[in-house]
Amino acid sequence: MPLTTLDYPDHLSCVVFCQGCAWRCRYCHNPDLIPPRAQQMHSWESILEFLQRRQGLLEAVVFSGGEATLQQALKPAMQEVKKLGFKVGLHTAGINPKALERVLPECDWVGFDIKALAENTELITGVPGSGQANWQCLDLLLASGIDYECRTTVHWDLLDPQGLLQLAQRLSARGVAHFVVQHVRTQGMLDEQLTEHNANLGTQALWHDISTLFSSFVRRND
Ligand code: SF4
Repeated sequence: MPLTTLDYPDHLSCVVFCQGCAWRCRYCHNPDLIPPRAQQMHSWESILEFLQRRQGLLEAVVFSGGEATLQQALKPAMQEVKKLGFKVGLHTAGINPKALERVLPECDWVGFDIKALAENTELITGVPGSGQANWQCLDLLLASGIDYECRTTVHWDLLDPQGLLQLAQRLSARGVAHFVVQHVRTQGMLDEQLTEHNANLGTQALWHDISTLFSSFVRRND
Protein backbone atom coordinates (compact mmCIF):
# COMPACT_ATOMS: atom_id res chain seq x y z
CA MET A 1 0.00 0.00 0.00
CA PRO A 2 2.13 2.90 -1.22
CA LEU A 3 1.58 6.34 0.36
CA THR A 4 1.04 9.08 -2.19
CA THR A 5 -0.49 12.48 -2.87
CA LEU A 6 -1.02 11.62 -6.55
CA ASP A 7 -3.88 9.19 -6.23
CA TYR A 8 -6.37 11.43 -4.43
CA PRO A 9 -6.10 15.14 -5.28
CA ASP A 10 -4.54 17.25 -2.50
CA HIS A 11 -4.78 14.47 0.09
CA LEU A 12 -2.14 12.19 1.56
CA SER A 13 -3.55 8.81 0.69
CA CYS A 14 -2.71 5.16 0.42
CA VAL A 15 -3.84 2.87 -2.34
CA VAL A 16 -5.41 -0.55 -1.86
CA PHE A 17 -4.85 -2.50 -5.07
CA CYS A 18 -7.67 -4.99 -5.65
CA GLN A 19 -6.89 -8.11 -7.63
CA GLY A 20 -8.86 -8.99 -10.77
CA CYS A 21 -10.28 -7.33 -13.86
CA ALA A 22 -12.73 -8.51 -16.51
CA TRP A 23 -11.20 -6.47 -19.32
CA ARG A 24 -7.95 -6.98 -21.23
CA CYS A 25 -6.85 -3.51 -22.25
CA ARG A 26 -4.01 -3.82 -24.71
CA TYR A 27 -1.99 -1.14 -22.93
CA CYS A 28 -2.71 -2.40 -19.39
CA HIS A 29 0.56 -1.77 -17.58
CA ASN A 30 -0.40 -3.84 -14.56
CA PRO A 31 -1.39 -7.16 -16.16
CA ASP A 32 -0.43 -9.04 -12.98
CA LEU A 33 -3.56 -7.56 -11.41
CA ILE A 34 -5.90 -8.97 -14.09
CA PRO A 35 -6.27 -12.63 -12.87
CA PRO A 36 -8.74 -13.13 -10.00
CA ARG A 37 -6.03 -14.47 -7.66
CA ALA A 38 -2.40 -13.63 -7.02
CA GLN A 39 0.33 -15.25 -4.96
CA GLN A 40 0.92 -12.23 -2.74
CA MET A 41 -2.30 -10.92 -1.23
CA HIS A 42 -3.03 -9.14 2.07
CA SER A 43 -5.97 -9.96 4.30
CA TRP A 44 -8.51 -7.19 4.89
CA GLU A 45 -7.76 -7.45 8.62
CA SER A 46 -4.09 -6.67 8.04
CA ILE A 47 -5.06 -3.65 5.91
CA LEU A 48 -7.37 -2.37 8.65
CA GLU A 49 -4.56 -2.72 11.20
CA PHE A 50 -2.27 -0.76 8.88
CA LEU A 51 -4.89 1.98 8.59
CA GLN A 52 -5.56 2.11 12.33
CA ARG A 53 -1.86 2.79 12.89
CA ARG A 54 -2.08 5.75 10.46
CA GLN A 55 -5.20 7.47 11.75
CA GLY A 56 -4.49 11.21 11.90
CA LEU A 57 -1.59 10.85 9.44
CA LEU A 58 -3.33 9.67 6.32
CA GLU A 59 -6.31 11.53 4.92
CA ALA A 60 -7.74 9.18 2.31
CA VAL A 61 -7.80 5.57 1.18
CA VAL A 62 -8.08 4.88 -2.52
CA PHE A 63 -9.39 1.58 -3.84
CA SER A 64 -7.79 0.76 -7.16
CA GLY A 65 -7.07 -2.28 -9.27
CA GLY A 66 -7.42 -4.30 -11.35
CA GLU A 67 -11.03 -3.27 -11.15
CA ALA A 68 -12.02 -2.60 -7.55
CA THR A 69 -15.78 -2.48 -8.20
CA LEU A 70 -15.74 -6.21 -8.99
CA GLN A 71 -14.99 -6.96 -5.33
CA GLN A 72 -18.16 -8.11 -3.60
CA ALA A 73 -16.89 -6.73 -0.29
CA LEU A 74 -15.95 -3.29 -1.63
CA LYS A 75 -18.94 -1.44 -0.17
CA PRO A 76 -18.53 -2.69 3.42
CA ALA A 77 -14.78 -2.15 3.13
CA MET A 78 -15.37 1.47 2.14
CA GLN A 79 -17.77 1.88 5.05
CA GLU A 80 -15.16 0.57 7.49
CA VAL A 81 -12.56 2.93 6.08
CA LYS A 82 -14.94 5.85 6.55
CA LYS A 83 -15.62 4.85 10.15
CA LEU A 84 -11.88 5.13 10.77
CA GLY A 85 -12.09 8.75 9.64
CA PHE A 86 -10.58 8.51 6.16
CA LYS A 87 -12.03 9.84 2.94
CA VAL A 88 -12.74 7.21 0.32
CA GLY A 89 -11.38 7.37 -3.22
CA LEU A 90 -12.06 4.99 -6.07
CA HIS A 91 -10.15 4.39 -9.28
CA THR A 92 -12.41 2.63 -11.74
CA ALA A 93 -12.58 1.85 -15.43
CA GLY A 94 -16.37 1.74 -15.12
CA ILE A 95 -16.77 -1.79 -16.34
CA ASN A 96 -20.02 -2.74 -14.59
CA PRO A 97 -22.77 -0.13 -14.05
CA LYS A 98 -24.60 -2.09 -11.31
CA ALA A 99 -21.38 -2.62 -9.36
CA LEU A 100 -20.45 1.05 -9.64
CA GLU A 101 -23.92 2.19 -8.62
CA ARG A 102 -23.67 0.08 -5.45
CA VAL A 103 -20.50 1.77 -4.20
CA LEU A 104 -20.87 5.34 -5.49
CA PRO A 105 -22.69 6.56 -2.35
CA GLU A 106 -19.62 5.62 -0.28
CA CYS A 107 -17.14 7.54 -2.48
CA ASP A 108 -15.80 11.04 -1.82
CA TRP A 109 -13.80 11.18 -5.05
CA VAL A 110 -13.61 9.03 -8.19
CA GLY A 111 -10.86 8.78 -10.79
CA PHE A 112 -12.77 7.46 -13.79
CA ASP A 113 -11.15 5.95 -16.90
CA ILE A 114 -12.98 6.53 -20.14
CA LYS A 115 -11.34 4.27 -22.67
CA ALA A 116 -12.52 5.64 -26.02
CA LEU A 117 -15.68 6.48 -27.92
CA ALA A 118 -18.21 3.78 -27.03
CA GLU A 119 -18.07 2.29 -30.53
CA ASN A 120 -14.25 1.98 -30.35
CA THR A 121 -13.80 0.72 -26.80
CA GLU A 122 -13.75 -2.97 -27.71
CA LEU A 123 -10.64 -2.34 -29.81
CA ILE A 124 -8.83 -1.47 -26.59
CA THR A 125 -10.47 -3.78 -24.04
CA GLY A 126 -11.07 -6.83 -26.23
CA VAL A 127 -14.52 -7.18 -24.65
CA PRO A 128 -17.80 -6.79 -26.58
CA GLY A 129 -20.21 -4.36 -24.91
CA SER A 130 -17.44 -2.67 -22.93
CA GLY A 131 -18.06 0.71 -24.56
CA GLN A 132 -21.70 0.74 -23.56
CA ALA A 133 -20.81 -0.22 -19.97
CA ASN A 134 -18.04 2.38 -19.76
CA TRP A 135 -20.28 5.24 -20.93
CA GLN A 136 -23.21 4.11 -18.80
CA CYS A 137 -20.93 4.20 -15.77
CA LEU A 138 -19.79 7.68 -16.75
CA ASP A 139 -23.41 8.85 -16.79
CA LEU A 140 -23.95 7.35 -13.31
CA LEU A 141 -20.90 9.14 -11.98
CA LEU A 142 -21.89 12.50 -13.44
CA ALA A 143 -25.45 12.16 -12.13
CA SER A 144 -24.15 11.36 -8.62
CA GLY A 145 -22.55 14.79 -8.15
CA ILE A 146 -19.46 13.18 -6.55
CA ASP A 147 -16.09 14.89 -7.14
CA TYR A 148 -14.21 13.21 -9.95
CA GLU A 149 -11.66 13.37 -12.67
CA CYS A 150 -12.38 11.71 -15.99
CA ARG A 151 -9.22 10.47 -17.67
CA THR A 152 -8.24 8.84 -20.91
CA THR A 153 -5.06 6.87 -21.30
CA VAL A 154 -3.52 7.37 -24.71
CA HIS A 155 -1.40 5.03 -26.72
CA TRP A 156 -1.11 6.65 -30.13
CA ASP A 157 -1.25 3.23 -31.87
CA LEU A 158 -4.84 3.03 -30.62
CA LEU A 159 -6.13 6.61 -30.69
CA ASP A 160 -5.03 9.28 -33.16
CA PRO A 161 -5.13 13.03 -32.39
CA GLN A 162 -8.36 13.56 -34.34
CA GLY A 163 -9.96 10.66 -32.47
CA LEU A 164 -8.87 12.15 -29.15
CA LEU A 165 -10.43 15.50 -30.03
CA GLN A 166 -13.65 13.75 -31.04
CA LEU A 167 -13.66 11.88 -27.74
CA ALA A 168 -13.09 15.10 -25.79
CA GLN A 169 -15.96 16.78 -27.66
CA ARG A 170 -18.29 13.93 -26.83
CA LEU A 171 -17.26 13.94 -23.17
CA SER A 172 -17.82 17.68 -22.96
CA ALA A 173 -21.26 17.32 -24.56
CA ARG A 174 -22.05 14.59 -22.02
CA GLY A 175 -21.31 16.98 -19.15
CA VAL A 176 -17.71 16.15 -18.19
CA ALA A 177 -16.02 19.21 -16.69
CA HIS A 178 -12.70 17.73 -15.47
CA PHE A 179 -10.64 15.87 -18.03
CA VAL A 180 -7.16 14.36 -17.91
CA VAL A 181 -5.17 12.88 -20.78
CA GLN A 182 -2.42 10.57 -19.60
CA HIS A 183 0.15 8.93 -21.83
CA VAL A 184 0.54 5.19 -21.40
CA ARG A 185 3.42 3.97 -19.31
CA THR A 186 4.73 1.56 -21.92
CA GLN A 187 6.76 -0.67 -19.63
CA GLY A 188 5.18 -4.09 -19.21
CA MET A 189 2.10 -3.53 -21.35
CA LEU A 190 -0.20 -6.52 -21.80
CA ASP A 191 0.05 -6.42 -25.62
CA GLU A 192 3.67 -6.65 -26.64
CA GLN A 193 2.77 -5.68 -30.21
CA LEU A 194 2.16 -2.09 -29.16
CA THR A 195 5.13 0.16 -29.83
CA GLU A 196 7.19 0.95 -26.75
CA HIS A 197 7.93 4.41 -28.07
CA ASN A 198 4.72 6.37 -27.48
CA ALA A 199 5.88 9.84 -28.53
CA ASN A 200 3.40 12.65 -28.01
CA LEU A 201 1.55 13.21 -31.30
CA GLY A 202 -0.59 16.01 -29.92
CA THR A 203 0.05 19.47 -31.34
CA GLN A 204 -0.30 22.71 -29.39
CA ALA A 205 -3.49 23.34 -31.38
CA LEU A 206 -4.94 19.99 -30.30
CA TRP A 207 -4.21 20.57 -26.62
CA HIS A 208 -5.61 24.08 -26.85
CA ASP A 209 -8.80 22.91 -28.57
CA ILE A 210 -9.31 20.21 -25.92
CA SER A 211 -8.62 22.58 -23.03
CA THR A 212 -11.39 24.94 -24.16
CA LEU A 213 -13.96 22.15 -23.72
CA PHE A 214 -13.52 21.68 -19.95
CA SER A 215 -13.33 23.69 -16.70
CA SER A 216 -10.11 21.84 -15.93
CA PHE A 217 -7.83 19.97 -18.30
CA VAL A 218 -4.55 18.26 -17.35
CA ARG A 219 -1.96 16.29 -19.33
CA ARG A 220 0.10 13.63 -17.55
CA ASN A 221 3.19 11.60 -18.48
CA ASP A 222 3.87 13.50 -21.74
S1 SF4 B 1 -9.54 -1.89 -17.05
FE1 SF4 B 1 -7.60 -1.28 -16.09
S2 SF4 B 1 -6.91 -3.11 -14.96
FE2 SF4 B 1 -8.50 -3.77 -16.39
S3 SF4 B 1 -7.35 -4.48 -18.16
FE3 SF4 B 1 -7.93 -2.34 -18.51
S4 SF4 B 1 -6.18 -1.13 -17.82
FE4 SF4 B 1 -5.93 -3.21 -16.96
